[in-house]
Amino acid sequence: MNHENNRKTRKRQVHFINEDGMVACNPGDIEAANRAQDEGIATTNVSEVTCKKCIAILYKLLKEGKNP
Ligand SMILES: [Zn+2]
Repeated sequence: MNHENNRKTRKRQVHFINEDGMVACNPGDIEAANRAQDEGIATTNVSEVTCKKCIAILYKLLKEGKNP
């Protein structure tokens, strides 16, 4: 059991924070948004986002001609 090791090697996913201040992949969960910001894994810079779900949502917005 090496939990510690697992934690270290696991890459943190950076989520996109939308204009409502919510995590793009979890827009209904304000706690998720707060947690992401506390942990420094939230960004409004599209190029820094690594969360696949957030990226998919961003692409969709861009495709629809919206400004994320
Ligand atoms: Zn995300």
